[in-house]
Amino acid sequence: MKTIGVLGGMSWESSLDWYRLANEQVRERLGGFHSAPILLDSLDFAEIERLQAAGEWGEAGTILASRARRLEDAGAELIVLCTNTMHIVADRIEEAIGVPFLHIADTTAAAIADAALTTVGLLGTAFTMEQPFYRDRLAQRGITTVIPGADDRGTVHRIIYDELVLGVVDDGSRRRYQEIIERLVGAGAQGIVLGCTEIELLISADEVSVPVFPTTALHVSAALAAAGL
Ligand code: GLU
Repeated sequence: MKTIGVLGGMSWESSLDWYRLANEQVRERLGGFHSAPILLDSLDFAEIERLQAAGEWGEAGTILASRARRLEDAGAELIVLCTNTMHIVADRIEEAIGVPFLHIADTTAAAIADAALTTVGLLGTAFTMEQPFYRDRLAQRGITTVIPGADDRGTVHRIIYDELVLGVVDDGSRRRYQEIIERLVGAGAQGIVLGCTEIELLISADEVSVPVFPTTALHVSAALAAAGL
């Protein structure tokens, strides 16, 4: 297998899941003592969150591009970024490296296409729901995205930053997400993209009436396939 360079820590709560799922899948497939060849660079999320809140995407891109380059220099043969939001600066990362970069929205789009769906609801940070970088990437693959209304977007965003990235998984928040998801289904969503890597810590497929697309799990499977598993 190729060595996967993982940009994580955004937040580490979901990177932990990324790492665990990758190793579980390798063990399941190869058996014995096999585990995933990974170089993990876990960033300090406080610095990234500060740049997000300030809209300093240029500075964030410079940091992530240099950290990706460092992973490549250390031997990574492909790079993944374990957060949907920071794919806002995916172009900066791709420009900085000479190895493949596996865009999380592409792995999500492939799963939606496999399920033969054309319209999905998108939950994520306000940046992911409101800025075009993610929805456009899905649209390029023929997928229409519906997003929650303004109040619901505020709730989804707040629960991510006030709870999920801090390791808080709350039943009331799960119910709120389920209600928001049902409103998206009412607006035409045939499936729901859990477009923030921590949301699948809160919501699982059996708690939703339509198919869900968990971006961490899908990203892991695609990365392992790209690495030759
Ligand atoms: N991990 C989240 C995501 O997938 C949110 C945290 C962040 O802003 O990086 O978008």
